[in-house]
Amino acid sequence: MLVVMQEGAPEQQTQAVIDRLVSLGFTIHRSTGVRHTILGGVGPRDDFDPLDFELMPGVKEAHRIVSPYKLANRTFQPEGTVVDINGVRIGGGDEIVVMAGPCSVESEAQIMTAAAQVAASGARVLRGGAFKPRSSPYAFQGLAGEGLKLLRAAADAHGLLVISEVMDSSQLDLMLPYVDILQVGARNMQNFSLLKELGAVRKPVLLKRGLAATLEDLLLSAEYLLSGGNYQVLLCERGIRTFETATRNTMDLSAVPVLQKLSHLPVVADPSHGTGRRDLVAPMARASVAVGAQALLIEMHPDPTAALSDGPQSLFPQQFAELMDQLRLIAQAVGMRIAPGREA
Ligand code: PEP
Ligand code: MN
Repeated sequence: MLVVMQEGAPEQQTQAVIDRLVSLGFTIHRSTGVRHTILGGVGPRDDFDPLDFELMPGVKEAHRIVSPYKLANRTFQPEGTVVDINGVRIGGGDEIVVMAGPCSVESEAQIMTAAAQVAASGARVLRGGAFKPRSSPYAFQGLAGEGLKLLRAAADAHGLLVISEVMDSSQLDLMLPYVDILQVGARNMQNFSLLKELGAVRKPVLLKRGLAATLEDLLLSAEYLLSGGNYQVLLCERGIRTFETATRNTMDLSAVPVLQKLSHLPVVADPSHGTGRRDLVAPMARASVAVGAQALLIEMHPDPTAALSDGPQSLFPQQFAELMDQLRLIAQAVGMRIAPGREA
């Protein structure tokens, strides 16, 4: 904790700050400069708000020195976390795992075809939503339990893992037998009761960055999972809301290296929701690999023009196959490789 007093702040105001810090258990290191007095508080606790100090008379600014997230902090696991799902390892090493598939599971034929295409192009994980967080209540909401069964069967037919979104803890029991990775959507990143439930689950969670979340918000949400004892957490950049309207969201690629610096958790990039436009998915996927993403989450549909959700941002199968070839080259250029698929 660092408190900078205003120029000429009377001693009694400085003393009031010292007294408050001491009452919280801090040891004070005082430095008196030509203009400002600076109080460094070294203490055992961080459950305080620097603003409480900033609002005290005579205080110019107050800053927290220790980060508010402990378990998600890089220092907790300096070598980086590896999330190992039946031998598919995300993070730690030099392999980038690609997860792909349609936004939603729509029918048996659709997900079976998608799984075959995803596997043929060399991805390792099949995505597909069975519970969909749609902006409109009139839009397709997903096939729920039936969708999960179809998704699992399609993935198993091609040796793929399954990722699917859990929107509510009431869906957990239904989902657990079918999925390998539980996705928490952007709209649920700060659903703290859901995060607490998922902290108690022993299954990997992919946590998407909220539409208006800072990276610190994202890491604090990850902290809910970790503090519950679930250490298999993947962080996902999927674009944020800004004033820019040319893309559905603004994909913050700098989040990838920043998160890797701040945290030991593997970082996943989602260029589909990040841009919202099919023509921008490949460029941003290539950039995601170049910038160091440890996994990618990409929407691909056997026939995007007929998709029930997110068609405009879903790649055609042929585009996805070509993109995978490009990603292999880019990965090589940055000392990584795309985790080889079972069928490609
Ligand atoms: C999705 O992956 O289809 C999805 C709904 O993602 P997000 O939560 O990032 O919008
Ligand atoms: Mn989608």
